[in-house]
Amino acid sequence: MNPTPDATATPDHIAVSDRWAAHNYHPLPIVLTHAEGAWATGQDGRRYLDFVAGYSALNFGHRHPEIVAAAKDQLDRLTLTGRSFHNDQFGLFCRELAELTGTETVLPANTGAEAVESAVKVARKWAYQVKGVPDGAAEIIVAGANFHGRTTTMVSISTDRTARNEFGPFTPGFTVVPFGDIDALRAAVNPNTAAILLEPIQGEAGVVVPAKGYLADVRQLCDDTGTLFLADEVQCGLARTGTTLALDHEGVRADLYALGKSLGGGLMPVSAVVGRADVLGALKPGEHGSTFGGNPLACAVGRAVVRLLATGEFQERSRELGTYLHSRLGELEGVTEVRGRGLWAGVQIAEGRTTGVNVSEALAGRGLLCKENQGHLRVAPPLVITREEIDFGVDAIADVLG
Ligand SMILES: *Cc1c(COP(=O)(O)O)cnc(C)c1O
Repeated sequence: MNPTPDATATPDHIAVSDRWAAHNYHPLPIVLTHAEGAWATGQDGRRYLDFVAGYSALNFGHRHPEIVAAAKDQLDRLTLTGRSFHNDQFGLFCRELAELTGTETVLPANTGAEAVESAVKVARKWAYQVKGVPDGAAEIIVAGANFHGRTTTMVSISTDRTARNEFGPFTPGFTVVPFGDIDALRAAVNPNTAAILLEPIQGEAGVVVPAKGYLADVRQLCDDTGTLFLADEVQCGLARTGTTLALDHEGVRADLYALGKSLGGGLMPVSAVVGRADVLGALKPGEHGSTFGGNPLACAVGRAVVRLLATGEFQERSRELGTYLHSRLGELEGVTEVRGRGLWAGVQIAEGRTTGVNVSEALAGRGLLCKENQGHLRVAPPLVITREEIDFGVDAIADVLG
């Protein structure tokens, strides 16, 4: 007989996940058990200020009371129907999200990668139906150092060796040009180009903001050549940069936007493609879908998120506190560059500064959750953070780099 595990003993969660989970991540040795607002609490009772915010999935902080209340209310009524039936949340979610983003039509999905995949599929279909591209010949241009998710097609367009290595064969039909280089983009566009797919600000690459005018030039190029502009705003969208959409800073409109991460309010995966009705209209019944996409629970959560964003409060917080965050980070010793916008910063660490120390672990030791990646820190606190909390976090970074 197998020994019965002692139900009262505290399991060693790190050892259990090491043994039973696939090793596709390398997490810090912290086991979180609670969180509220900008703070998370570990199993040992230690509190940490969250400077990661689930890579923007937690823009409203952990367990925002209005989002949690909307979810609880929906949990007591209706959670899943499938799209074979209507439900009383779906249409309203689509309308409210379209109104918030100034778009016409919403295609719901679950994860960010799925939203970008869906935008790619729609762009191809549109190219065949409307632009007259010969069947099977549609091309999509993407930027180097992009991050669009982990599906086979999304890693097909990645330039990151680790993300691609041994996952081929890859999806054809894509051309990669350097991010921020309008001449390279111009040279790559041809009559079979269906779309240009870009992150307006590249998150995983280290919060890379293109030069002023680049995104407007992309829009112009698309207009001149009858090409769609697909904006992946999964990470940069929904108030992270201080505006509802990151492209708003440049006064530029995309034809389709992929949204995700914080659209789920930190509770569950909710994503969508939003944009032009005539482009999304290329899809007919049965041609595309998702079992969970647009489920009533997700829509109720998404509607609560849209309500919070509609006040403009989070965009304003990101702008104002973002200015403060950037000025404080810019003064740090051992930092060569601070990139980004609003409460979002890529902090480039001077070479040699961190030799022999694990920066993320040292920061956790000072009560700050913040991940170092390829020589930079990505700072993205929940937008509910206060000025004093920003000071706490930046002081911890100063300590570790100093
Ligand atoms: C996170 C991210 C994705 C993928 O989202 P998942 O929900 O992890 O599939 C796509 N694009 C960008 C810009 C992202 O940051």
